[in-house]
Amino acid sequence: MIEVKNLSKVFPDGTRALDNVNLQIKDGEFIAVIGLSGAGKSTFMRCLNRLNDPSAGQILLEGEDIAFAQGRELRKLRRRIGFVFQQFNLVTRLTAFENVISGRLGYHDRLRGLFGLYTTDDKAKAIQALTRVGLEEKMYTKASSLSGGQQQRVAIARALVQEPKLMLADEPTASIDPKLSGVIMGLLKSFCDDGMTVIVNIHELRLAKDFAGRILGFNKGQLVFDGTPDQLTHLEEERVYAGSVADL
Ligand code: ADP
Repeated sequence: MIEVKNLSKVFPDGTRALDNVNLQIKDGEFIAVIGLSGAGKSTFMRCLNRLNDPSAGQILLEGEDIAFAQGRELRKLRRRIGFVFQQFNLVTRLTAFENVISGRLGYHDRLRGLFGLYTTDDKAKAIQALTRVGLEEKMYTKASSLSGGQQQRVAIARALVQEPKLMLADEPTASIDPKLSGVIMGLLKSFCDDGMTVIVNIHELRLAKDFAGRILGFNKGQLVFDGTPDQLTHLEEERVYAGSVADL
């Protein structure tokens, strides 16, 4: 479903954040991306949904090359890709429901969204998504009054109402109580049962091994490991984590 070919990203200051990355991803895979800080994990995710523009290569999403999509094509593409951020990126003065339903904006023109003219279907989908993440009772609570774990679940519900084919989560457990990390990972993994592909950039190796079906290891912009948790031997781990942060 997703094919990445010769993907590279060089930032204007000359930093080569991604170096000729090649891989294929099937529908319904749950993938963890690991590597040292600065290895290129976020850049990889951000290229997939085009928050970063690749410098070279192809990203085929269901056969369509999205690496250089612009304008309306890019907007349509973003609708098919949900993104969950480390810092949640919620509008904290709005309720959980209002935050979640904003995930439907990609389906409407800008003015309609601006005036909150959502359809009955949008509302039903927002409630469904909040229920799926276990927050239906907090629907009318302002995001600012929710705990970190609850805010992240709202952010996940917001990505879910987009009905994406691909969900990307960039360090989704980094800003929450470590005890809740497993809940968030389990929730993300459950979406794969519906055929959604989920890619999680995760700092904690234990979480990657416990939850992911496939692990991608980056080192200095290169994909140096691509396999199952079982295949990630101690030696492979050393390859992924080789070099200090200061070298990067
Ligand atoms: P990770 O997510 O693995 O910590 P990143 O993808 O954030 O790594 O960063 C990869 C490399 O690209 C790092 O060297 C980082 O400093 C650099 N980088 C990231 N964003 C930018 C940017 N906007 N401009 C220049 N360099 C950047």
